Amino acid sequence: MRLRSNDNVIIIKGRDRGKQGRIQRTMPASDMVLVDGVNVVMRHTKPTTQVRQGGIIQKEMPIHASRVMLICNHCQQPTKIASRFLADGTKARACRKCQEVIE
Ligand SMILES: [Zn+2]
Repeated sequence: MRLRSNDNVIIIKGRDRGKQGRIQRTMPASDMVLVDGVNVVMRHTKPTTQVRQGGIIQKEMPIHASRVMLICNHCQQPTKIASRFLADGTKARACRKCQEVIE
């Protein structure tokens, strides 16, 4: 998985298809990402020490990385991610559409 936290992504599959959001967290072990405002579910929770208020709360659930596409911050289009080696030998991510390095 080449997605990282704070990436802007668009959802390409499922109930939230077409929505855009920022990645809050990535879970590389399971190839899941948690995106702001995407895959929101109602959770019925009991009060605990962490969540003092019980009841129904809205919560984002992680979705599989294959269901999102990165939005390039140069050309603003959903794109696949290419790997590129910079002049100093470090590996960087690049947009397949405009070829710019993504940061
Ligand atoms: Zn681009």
